[in-house]
Amino acid sequence: MDEALVKQRFHDIEENYKIIKNNIAEAAIKGGRKPEDIRFMAVTKTVDSLYINHALSLGIDLIGENRVQEFLSKRDELNLNGVEKHLIGHLQTNKVRQIVGEVDMIDGVDSVKVAKEIGKVSQKKGIITDVLVEVNIGGEESKFGLDPARLNETVCEMSEIEGIKIKGLMAIPPICTNEEENRKFFSNMYTMFLDIKAKKIDNVSMSILSMGMSDDYASAILEGSTMVRVGSSLFGRRVY
Ligand SMILES: *Cc1c(COP(=O)(O)O)cnc(C)c1O
Repeated sequence: MDEALVKQRFHDIEENYKIIKNNIAEAAIKGGRKPEDIRFMAVTKTVDSLYINHALSLGIDLIGENRVQEFLSKRDELNLNGVEKHLIGHLQTNKVRQIVGEVDMIDGVDSVKVAKEIGKVSQKKGIITDVLVEVNIGGEESKFGLDPARLNETVCEMSEIEGIKIKGLMAIPPICTNEEENRKFFSNMYTMFLDIKAKKIDNVSMSILSMGMSDDYASAILEGSTMVRVGSSLFGRRVY
């Protein structure tokens, strides 16, 4: 390993971290909220443990991985003391068994089927798994997530499942949209979030609204996001 390159990348991560923290705080204040009310999730997929640990040493206390296998193979190398771990993005039903109990939250629960499987495995393990429900805010353009038009009834149906607790919503806007369109999606999400919260459904707490990634986290915060998921702006562009 080239030491100079590692040092350079450590330095870049430090600078990026400061910039993102600053942008989050600014957007929060602009939106009439407190900077500490917005959680900053570092999305660590494809990133080497060496660099993830460097980010953790700066004060990151929440990470997100979107592949079960990758998370399980990396985590022993990570300094995860006091760090919250989430599985983000689409989860296949046949992977549920491996991940339940290994992370603090499963974000991106996008079907009743997968929610039931998480509940079943959690009950077997004697735990309750916190989950976020993923909404397909862009309609059919993006692949995963629940239909917004049926969100209320689907959340109600999921709230009956034992072994899980719904903590909020997560959304990924469609890929090919501009900032203004994204803001509209985010604002629609916030409305849905408030609507469901107001219904005070048993077993549903609606305290987290996870939206905003590297390119649009500031807009997401302005529209009510409580958790942003930032990968490439922190660690650099991903190389697969
Ligand atoms: C990869 C990923 C992110 C982070 O994306 P960036 O644009 O790199 O910040 C956020 N959320 C999910 C679900 C992801 O898979």
